[in-house]
Amino acid sequence: MEPREILQTTRQAIGQYAGQDPDKWFYANRFVFARLQLDERRTKTQIKKDLLEAQAMCDYDGCRLGFDSTRGVCLHRVDGSRAYSRENCVLMHPDCHQKYHAEHPDKRRGGRPVGAGKAAPTSPVLRKVSKRYEGYSFLYWWDLSPGFLDKMERYEEVQFVKKDGSEYCCVPIPALKGYLTAARRTSRCQGNWGIRVLKDREWELAFEPGRGDNTWLFLPVVWLSRSHED
Ligand SMILES: [Zn+2]
Repeated sequence: MEPREILQTTRQAIGQYAGQDPDKWFYANRFVFARLQLDERRTKTQIKKDLLEAQAMCDYDGCRLGFDSTRGVCLHRVDGSRAYSRENCVLMHPDCHQKYHAEHPDKRRGGRPVGAGKAAPTSPVLRKVSKRYEGYSFLYWWDLSPGFLDKMERYEEVQFVKKDGSEYCCVPIPALKGYLTAARRTSRCQGNWGIRVLKDREWELAFEPGRGDNTWLFLPVVWLSRSHED
């Protein structure tokens, strides 16, 4: 089975389990998502441990020193298009890691899957970045323009990224669709939709009421961090 088919099969299985119950769908989807992510995390933790036990030095050219503490040590893939493995990973201090990526901006994100001879497929992820707002009733604020509806089918999910803390959450396009109705368009720009993180409701995305509606809608999300790995 190809990755796309595995995804399709998993979606079908979750759909069958959940039937018409959105709570069951949400639970099952979150369960599978979180467990798979944990699998990856365990692999990384083991590689990091192995490298530290082998007394690996910081791989950043300007440093090459050892590590005083195991906390915050960054695991870095030498070839960003390949998997986490002992052979493809090195360690860096957090600061060195940041410097490395500042000097190699094009290597920031992994590329094609292993063995794919063709050009990299376009990313199925749309990233939207928000700064942190201070002194308001909300902490983050993203806008989606109405043009997004036409481009939407090209993507699998939207990542809402917090610019300050490198945390992000992922919302699958089908989940997002229901919130982006004509009635919820605001009076900003060409009628953008507004999506925020409100103070005291940090575990949800809050969808602004539009001109035709005055109720906020909330979507529970998981904030992920990618500060120490890539
Ligand atoms: Zn270093």
